[in-house]
Amino acid sequence: VQGGAAMLLLFMLLHILQSDAAERSVLDRDLLAALRDEQFVLHYQPQLNSAGRVIGAEVLIRWQHPQRGLVPPIEFIGHAEKTGLIIPIGKWVLEQACTQLRIWKDDPLYRDIGLAVNISQNQFRQAAFVPDMLDLIAVHGIEAHRLELELTETLIVQDMEDLVRKMVALADHGVRFSLDDFGTGFSSLSHLKRLPLNTLKIDRSFISDVLTDASSETIVRTVIGLGQSMGMTVIAEGVETEAQQRFLASNGCVQFQGYLFSKPLPLQEFAAFVARQHG
Ligand code: C2E
Ligand code: MG
Ligand code: MG
Ligand code: MG
Repeated sequence: VQGGAAMLLLFMLLHILQSDAAERSVLDRDLLAALRDEQFVLHYQPQLNSAGRVIGAEVLIRWQHPQRGLVPPIEFIGHAEKTGLIIPIGKWVLEQACTQLRIWKDDPLYRDIGLAVNISQNQFRQAAFVPDMLDLIAVHGIEAHRLELELTETLIVQDMEDLVRKMVALADHGVRFSLDDFGTGFSSLSHLKRLPLNTLKIDRSFISDVLTDASSETIVRTVIGLGQSMGMTVIAEGVETEAQQRFLASNGCVQFQGYLFSKPLPLQEFAAFVARQHG
């Protein structure tokens, strides 16, 4: 009986492993098809200053799947990072962002609006990342400072020299950098000091607890102070209530992003959001 039970367990495990592998390759095939058939779309989440003006947008990818509908990035970005598909997907995102910045270039409504693009660790680590990025900027004839690359702290743990060299090379051309989900990683202050960062993005998890959890409150205050003393802009992500925004503003945070203002929007709706504030 015991042997039978062990066999059954083994069969179940094998079944799970196989279906997982099968699902994995289906996802790979589907992601490749998505690239080919242009099923990815970008949404734009407004970023506002303390006067309530749109000063930029974070570009967030979605997958318009023919059967599954609009698939959020959490369901495919991690996988694409593991398989390397993030490289072509990330290139596509940057191309789209540059194309959009070109379209807005001479439009006075968009004069102050830049785009923040999420860059995966293995994407930034590519040898050709810097020359490819500079090419894109030149080919589209856009102002480099309109582009902000969002990196995460995971990037900082290995090969600081390569990281600093690449960031400085791009920063020298005007490209801006932000550190995303700040506070969730383990970057040391001495590392932070070496990076040409313009912006710290306080992670949403701290913002959502800021009024109810003393340690989140302390972390938020500390990050704001840290940004100020290092000459960086601090933006709060995931601001959902006016009370959170009031707390942030009274502690010196000057930029905001979150559902309180707007969810990430399809391009036309983002354009309407921008037009409304001028109307
Ligand atoms: P992230 O870069 O930290 O992006 C912020 C996420 O928080 C977005 O989720 C956004 O919709 C969500 N968010 C913003 N404000 C609020 C709020 O007030 N409340 C709540 N509950 N959520 C809010 P999204 O779009 O699902 O993206 C998830 C993650 O996927 C991103 O986190 C980023 O790490 C990754 N991602 C998205 N687009 C790209 C991309 O083009 N390339 C790469 N490499 N990663 C991407
Ligand atoms: Mg981000
Ligand atoms: Mg974030
Ligand atoms: Mg995040």
